[in-house]
Amino acid sequence: MTSTLLTGIGELVTNDERFGGPLGLVQDAAVVVEDGRVAWVGPRRGAPTADARRDLGGRAVVPGFVDSHAHLVFAGDRAAEFEARMAGTPYDGGGIASTVAATRAATEEELRGTLRRLVAEMRAQGTTTVEVKGGYGLTVEDEARSVRLAREVTEEVTFLGAHVVPSEYAGRADDYVALVAGPMLTACAPRARWVDVFCEPGSAHAFDGDQAQVVLEAGAAAGLGLRLHANQLSAGPGVRLAVELGAASADHCTHLTDADVEALAGSSTVATLLPTIEFSTRSPYPDARRLIDAGATVALATDCNPGSGYSSSMPLAVALAVREMRMTPAEALWSATAGGAAALRRTDVGVLRPGARADLAVLDAPSYLHLAYRPGVPLVRALELDA
Ligand SMILES: [Zn+2]
Repeated sequence: MTSTLLTGIGELVTNDERFGGPLGLVQDAAVVVEDGRVAWVGPRRGAPTADARRDLGGRAVVPGFVDSHAHLVFAGDRAAEFEARMAGTPYDGGGIASTVAATRAATEEELRGTLRRLVAEMRAQGTTTVEVKGGYGLTVEDEARSVRLAREVTEEVTFLGAHVVPSEYAGRADDYVALVAGPMLTACAPRARWVDVFCEPGSAHAFDGDQAQVVLEAGAAAGLGLRLHANQLSAGPGVRLAVELGAASADHCTHLTDADVEALAGSSTVATLLPTIEFSTRSPYPDARRLIDAGATVALATDCNPGSGYSSSMPLAVALAVREMRMTPAEALWSATAGGAAALRRTDVGVLRPGARADLAVLDAPSYLHLAYRPGVPLVRALELDA
């Protein structure tokens, strides 16, 4: 076991309130890493010795981003749908069917190749934990294949058989829900940690509150944690259902009633906002300030997927949250790290304190403020400790 002392950290974001909340900033900091874990954090002058030493040249260091919502097991792309949308065609979730067809037709090697490329793309932009959903297979075999592939790259695997109703079940959504909550769940649960549903009465392709409840309750009975695509296109029943069932996260939260905001604020359900989706569908952004001011826990994630938003970039999500959703740079960074960890019910990521995973991201800049201050500039990457 070798320990490494990292010095020359001009500004360190720990998300540890012992250093002053909420970001736990330390100037001229050092970190000792041992066996993949943080062993020590603090001002450089108090740092212990270690086997090896590496100087980061005054750069800022933040916890690696925790992207708690991504759809990475798929084939094909939908660039033409994006082009049509930018010309005025509204987004309603209907294009998912074309990705389902491409995914079913793809070989395992093709799916694995795309998945690994996207995870590497994320890591190159500072993301060190990613949740990966299935949801483009929509048969027992294809969803089982999706979660098996996802498990190769992350522990945070989500079964999303209830993404849309596949065309072969058109007009028979309840029959499809029974398949998802029955044999498909049984086939997928052993490799999944979470179950999720696209709950959206505003889409002809997604699921209503009662259908979502059937799938979530079956998932909970199978030992899975709950997450929900909620209130993306309309102020539907999703957020309240997520809170009632104790879901870890309600994702999107674009259209919220006062009762939805109150329910989130009084719960442990994290409101996960996905601003790259509003950017890529040219839709109004969720009201982050309303949620934060009410006391809700807010996470930011990419929702990277080939249809509604094909960005793997957490720095873009941060910049949009600051510019378009009036989050402060500190709030946005917290939500992209500790907030994402809360949405995954993890205490070992999204924070840099002794015992946490040594998931560090380093900026070619003196302060985390540059994440939003210099949008579109590739400043941040995961720190490769053995490099
Ligand atoms: Zn999604």
